[in-house]
Amino acid sequence: MEVTHTATAAPPLPAHPDPKLDAILGSGLPHELSYALGGPFHLLLPDRFDANVASFEEALREAGVEGRVYYAKKANKAAVWMDRCALSGTGVDVASLGELRDALGHGVRGEHVVVTGPAKAEDLLRVAVLQGCLVAVDALDELERVLALARAVARPARVLLRRLPPAQPHSRFGLDDGELEAALARCAQATDAVVMEGFSFHLSGYATEPRAQLAVQLLELCLKARALGLRADRISIGGGFAVDYTDAGHWERFLAEQRPEHYHAGKSFAAADFYPYHSPVAGADALRAVLRTHRLAERLSEAGVKLLLEPGRALLDRAGCTVFRVQGVKDRNGYGIVTVDGTSLSLSEQWFNSEYLPDPVLLPATPRSVGDEPYAACVGGTTCLESDMVTWRKVRLPIRPAIGDLLVYPNTAGYQMDSNESPFHELPLPPKVVLDTAGGTTRWRFDRHPLA
Ligand SMILES: *Cc1c(COP(=O)(O)O)cnc(C)c1O
Repeated sequence: MEVTHTATAAPPLPAHPDPKLDAILGSGLPHELSYALGGPFHLLLPDRFDANVASFEEALREAGVEGRVYYAKKANKAAVWMDRCALSGTGVDVASLGELRDALGHGVRGEHVVVTGPAKAEDLLRVAVLQGCLVAVDALDELERVLALARAVARPARVLLRRLPPAQPHSRFGLDDGELEAALARCAQATDAVVMEGFSFHLSGYATEPRAQLAVQLLELCLKARALGLRADRISIGGGFAVDYTDAGHWERFLAEQRPEHYHAGKSFAAADFYPYHSPVAGADALRAVLRTHRLAERLSEAGVKLLLEPGRALLDRAGCTVFRVQGVKDRNGYGIVTVDGTSLSLSEQWFNSEYLPDPVLLPATPRSVGDEPYAACVGGTTCLESDMVTWRKVRLPIRPAIGDLLVYPNTAGYQMDSNESPFHELPLPPKVVLDTAGGTTRWRFDRHPLA
């Protein structure tokens, strides 16, 4: 007996239309890949990454600002982003030796790498200094280790001093006023071991004004550092450029109407814990807004200071999606429980007390006629844990799914697909499939070849 009650379905939250991806999804390729790979997989669209990098660079150019974009590698582990950075001369932001090796191994120049993260491992710092990477120093003891290493390898270290954001005093990252003062004095004494190139910060949240405000403060710090004889000719404003996943109307309605009965098991999420899936100003436009605020662009040019940025999520906007196969469907209290062949570890939001909200799209294995009423269902993972829900809320699917249909989660490249994946239950990690669309045809290949 088919149940299609949608009285308690969550308000719809469709991702922005993406006709190019829809054409690929409609081509039958996802079903072929699902059959071949025998489990969930991720699709990657590197052309989108290139276009996103280019749009940030264009925003710098328009504002007459010299600078460099560094892709924050933690947002997605695929090799293809490193290939693209190496080929275009785009920088990479790394925070571990593994990430640094991956960047260098794909041909990203050491001088185009910025190393961030707290209390960095000795091996990471040593390779970074030898390769001429820019090291964002997070603490005074770390600065001492960098100076000692630089002397040991007889090569001055290139450093930025990371600022503790005054507006986020509980941040565990960066140097406070007193520490900055001490670090500057230390750099001025140790010019044989260090080239102090400037300052950096990374703010939580996505607001543009606080970034412009803190950037202006860093500019003032550059002038102060120059008075001590230091180079101080660049600042990094980190990442946190918002991604706009859905339109304002759907987003506002979702926030206003969502309530526990829209979720499996009466689950509730605090609205404040949701990522802001709609942002009126996002991506390169967020950079434009930062550059306009407090005359930042003009001030940078006047001071001869370069602007470095470290976007992660924003460079991956619309550059990937995640495909599951439906493995079972059952009806329960007026809605369906769809079980897919993967786990919620492929959608990291679940592990931050939150839910990935852009609606999944059903790709039926066989054409079936759409009924009058949508079918409301939550989506569970193929593990033995109650909490392994890929989607807690009851989403509206056009028809009752059947075994073998595919469920595609849109726009998952930024932080969703791989940061929490593990071989839990001895399930294989979902492979990443790169879609190359050069020349108008779509061809696929593995991101890292399984036999390599
Ligand atoms: C995580 C991080 C970023 C990237 O943040 P996004 O929100 O993905 O743009 C940039 N810089 C630093 C230091 C980070 O820790």
